[in-house]
Amino acid sequence: MTDSFHRYDVIVIGGGHAGTEAALAAARGGARTLLLTHNVETVGAMSCNPAIGGIGKGHLVKEIDALGGAMAHAADLAGIQWRTLNASKGPAVRATRCQADRNLYRMAIRRIVESQPNLTVFQAAVDDLVIEGDAVRGAITQTGLTFHAPAVVLTAGTFLAGKIHIGETQYTAGRMGDPPATTLAARLRERPFAIDRLKTGTPPRIDGRSLDYSVMDEQPGDDPLPVMSYLGNAAEHPRQVSCWITHTSERTHEVIRNALHRSPLYSGQIEGIGPRYCPSIEDKVVRFAEKDSHQIFVEPEGLNVVEIYPNGISTSLPFDVQLELVRSIRGFEHAHITRPGYAIEYDFFDPRGLKNTLETRQVAGLFFAGQINGTTGYEEAGAQGLLAGVNAALYVQGREGWCPRRDEAYIGVLVDDLITHGTSEPYRMFTSRAEYRLQLREDNADARLTPTGRELGLVDDRRWHAFETKQAAVAGESARLRGLWATPANALGREVQAATGVAVSRETNVLDLIKRPELDYTKLMQVPSLGPGVSDARVAEQVEISVKYAGYLDRQRVEIERQQRHENTVIAEGFDFAAVHGLSAEALQKFERVRPQTIGQAQRIPGMTPAAISLLLVHLERAR
Ligand code: FAD
Repeated sequence: MTDSFHRYDVIVIGGGHAGTEAALAAARGGARTLLLTHNVETVGAMSCNPAIGGIGKGHLVKEIDALGGAMAHAADLAGIQWRTLNASKGPAVRATRCQADRNLYRMAIRRIVESQPNLTVFQAAVDDLVIEGDAVRGAITQTGLTFHAPAVVLTAGTFLAGKIHIGETQYTAGRMGDPPATTLAARLRERPFAIDRLKTGTPPRIDGRSLDYSVMDEQPGDDPLPVMSYLGNAAEHPRQVSCWITHTSERTHEVIRNALHRSPLYSGQIEGIGPRYCPSIEDKVVRFAEKDSHQIFVEPEGLNVVEIYPNGISTSLPFDVQLELVRSIRGFEHAHITRPGYAIEYDFFDPRGLKNTLETRQVAGLFFAGQINGTTGYEEAGAQGLLAGVNAALYVQGREGWCPRRDEAYIGVLVDDLITHGTSEPYRMFTSRAEYRLQLREDNADARLTPTGRELGLVDDRRWHAFETKQAAVAGESARLRGLWATPANALGREVQAATGVAVSRETNVLDLIKRPELDYTKLMQVPSLGPGVSDARVAEQVEISVKYAGYLDRQRVEIERQQRHENTVIAEGFDFAAVHGLSAEALQKFERVRPQTIGQAQRIPGMTPAAISLLLVHLERAR
């Protein structure tokens, strides 16, 4: 074996969602990179729900894509049911989501990883890190191989001291069917990191052929089909299928209530805190005792497999209870469970021990990314992986690290939240976590990040060319429309009225006409002397949004400055926080627990979002 086999610039440990993006980003950033992972077959494996995107999460995927990452492209190649969530709402909260074919997704990620120059993959379990003084120097595998690098990115997911729970049964594992990283976890506990336990869970999987779809509601995907990557197109998507919706019954809830004493969540067997936004079905039945039914999305796991994923019934109840509760669901009366649901507890590191580059404060050159930083979800993991990977490359090159600001990217929000507030429960992204969400839209992630990605070496020529072409088209079309004037009396004004039914009341350039609520780009392009306009819908969208929302964006900037002036604004004794419109349950709970006396104090409540503070300010001002 040559020495180059053992020496790299960057080593990434773990081939999940954080690890693959980290390895790709480090390699693209110019570092000779090694990806060490338990099993090459599970590179890019989805541990839980085979879906990518959603509100807040879709925003992260677009940002990963804008920075040259893999997730969006893989989703385009694997998505079998596509939806734009919040389609009727403003562009800030619109989000793309796809149900993915689990195998196609994994294969797409593996193909991208394997074709990346500068990146080597080696199958191995890492048992320890090489640390000299206060700097990392490499990693040691279970078989005794040592690999050397001045930067290491650890992305071990749910595997560190992972322990699976199904009812009273518990055993060590990284996730079902995969070994845990027990030795590595023990070694890391000997280092000066703050480590605690979290838990997450997954539902039983079911043979779709044993279900009665005739009593469920069909949920077809959108038409036209959304696309995830800025370079993608709907023709890349595989065959499309429907998802289905059904509900738990009163009997389901009764089965669960009767078995709570056997639930590891309630018996005290599980110590780690689970994800607030993906609670287990037993948790939902206890917390929302007044509800007699919960929705279940019946989601296919892939085109060539029979299993379905019943989204909404994650559980760690004993298997006999799982079977009974599953068969009490409408349409599931004869369900055959192919894999039991389970919960898993694992070690995570207090993210307050990280710099905004995701390098640990304790060990130079050691970066942490993904689930091990207290987050949950593929998208959150991928975003951190990309950031850690590019920063590992910058670190070995002696260059300054990079992290987007909160007003530049959800990635910035994610990292700032984690390193400022830490987390006591698995953190997932929502648009409500961002105070500048009008700026942070899915549709403009490329404009926000691709130029920086290019400077960092993450964006290849193809993406850069496509980006420049799009930006030039947006600028060109905006300039064209800005130069055309309609008046009540001129030919264009009369044409606009004839084609759209909207009267031009004063001299206006056509770009400003888009601001009118009754008009949009598509309608205006029906005016014979204006149309047909640009053929690329993404260009048209940018032209339209930049004009229609210009006023809101300006107001948001003013709001940001105003917010900073409210440090000493008093909140009256006995103030009713529940009356503040739009607060998340989490923010309300925290306000009611602390009962802050000033806005400044409210801002410093750990985990409090700037968005919640904004809502509070708006309410206080209205009440004045
Ligand atoms: P992972 O995807 O876990 O990847 C870790 C990788 O590291 C694996 O490839 C593993 O083999 C490798 N590895 C670990 N240790 C070593 C080592 N010592 N040496 C070599 N390789 C190693 N997310 C949600 O958003 N909602 C949910 O409800 C949800 N439920 C979940 C339920 C379960 C049971 C599980 C297991 C996960 C769930 N997830 C959920 C989480 C989601 O799967 C993770 O957020 C995501 O996979 C994290 O990505 P990651 O890259 O950090 O880690």
